[in-house]
Amino acid sequence: MYKVVIGLEVHCEVKTNSKNFSNSRNTYSEYPNENIDTVDIGLPGILPVANKEAFRKSLMMSLALNCKTPDIVMFDRKNYYYPDLPKGYQITQETKPVGRDGYVMINVNGEDKKILINNIHLEEDTASLDHFGNYSLIDYNRSGIPLLETVTEPCMNSADEAITFLEALKGIFLYTGVSEARTDRGQMRCDVNISLMEEDATEFGTKVEMKNINSFNNVRLAIEYEIKRQTEILKSGGKVLQETRRFDSEDLKTYPMRSKVDAIDYKYYIEPNIPPIKISDDLIEEIKKEIPMLQYERVEKYMGEYGLSRYDSEIIVKDKKVSDYFEETIKLGADPKSSANWLTSIILGHLNKYEITIDDLYLTPKMLYELISMVDTGKISSKQSKQVFFKCIEENKEPSVIVKEMGMTQITDDKTIRDIAIRVLDEHPELIEDHRKGKNTFDYFVGQVMKETRGQANPKVTRDIILEEMEKR
Ligand code: ADP
Ligand code: MG
Repeated sequence: MYKVVIGLEVHCEVKTNSKNFSNSRNTYSEYPNENIDTVDIGLPGILPVANKEAFRKSLMMSLALNCKTPDIVMFDRKNYYYPDLPKGYQITQETKPVGRDGYVMINVNGEDKKILINNIHLEEDTASLDHFGNYSLIDYNRSGIPLLETVTEPCMNSADEAITFLEALKGIFLYTGVSEARTDRGQMRCDVNISLMEEDATEFGTKVEMKNINSFNNVRLAIEYEIKRQTEILKSGGKVLQETRRFDSEDLKTYPMRSKVDAIDYKYYIEPNIPPIKISDDLIEEIKKEIPMLQYERVEKYMGEYGLSRYDSEIIVKDKKVSDYFEETIKLGADPKSSANWLTSIILGHLNKYEITIDDLYLTPKMLYELISMVDTGKISSKQSKQVFFKCIEENKEPSVIVKEMGMTQITDDKTIRDIAIRVLDEHPELIEDHRKGKNTFDYFVGQVMKETRGQANPKVTRDIILEEMEKR
């Protein structure tokens, strides 16, 4: 068996109003080439202007990934020719990127792992090519969209770790609002570097790079295929070639694309048209304050402070809005476990069923808190509370109003329930006799009391009283 070594380079489009160096909008366009200008198509004499918002969001992501930020950030030109790159170079950051030496904590199947970030840099997206039979079309809409590239160290050792890291990274993009990170729109794409080494080897094996994989599931499949392919080569005494390969999502195999290009081939030099940008400590502090508590920390908090399971915690933090809703409910005074139960067992199911978000839900955190309180104080039973919930979101009325309208109150008063229980028991001495002989008639009596009170008797109090009264006879 060989040890697997994986490093990822993840590209993610930054959410901004305009493109990275031009005035074109940064939106999802319906028609090809409808959203472009002279900078995007690289006409001679163009002058790029750095986008402040893209820059700020890049710094935010850098800080969220615990990176060190430089005092001065610079842009560089990466020179190469390809039809999707009209200028003949890409503006990127090589010498002074927005972040270096960071890390992300992840939890893989119950075990913590620190994923090391080599660097994060801001660059521009390329145009997209559509290939048809014997010709191709170029769409420049994507050209110049701000793109953040996160480069990890070769520190992951399984497909599970790689996928968990990608999910965590996506979560950070969403929580910070830096990107919508939609893989289905190609906003988040991943290059996978993978090599194998002997368990006791001290040096990494030769890596293969798989470019532009656009779904997490394909990342997993590509990794699994490469592990198999490289294992077979090494086992038969062969050598893995250092090359770029393409993953084919139809037959689930990888194919050679080209042999390695060295950094030196790109002839990097500083982009002369964008001055170096100085970053003040004040700006860093200001941005830090805007970063909300992230998923990993929230899960720790929910497990540690609220006693939730990892499973439930991870479900709640999946969507920041749901997690914020949960925290808001607790802040109002609701019991964390009851709140979590409501979310995981009822509310999320409802949202999924109707494909709506928690913002669309009529029930606010305050109303959920009220609903939970009514159960806690014995005003209504937990069974009734579910009825109230569904009626509340159906009729857009507050829980307290529904409870009043439905005449729902719970009887917890000992004397009222005891009087009814005694009457019911008196009516059926033969069933008490049966019970003594070992036949279970207890539930029948509980049912009768429930019936007489139209389901309003508190079930626990009822059971206790009937048990007491039966024992007396
Ligand atoms: P290159 O010079 O080929 O671009 P880098 O050292 O810059 O290589 O790394 C590019 C990516 O490849 C990084 O994500 C890194 O973690 C990963 N990587 C580097 N070496 C290996 C290896 N031996 N096995 C797997 N991944 C690797
Ligand atoms: Mg490199």
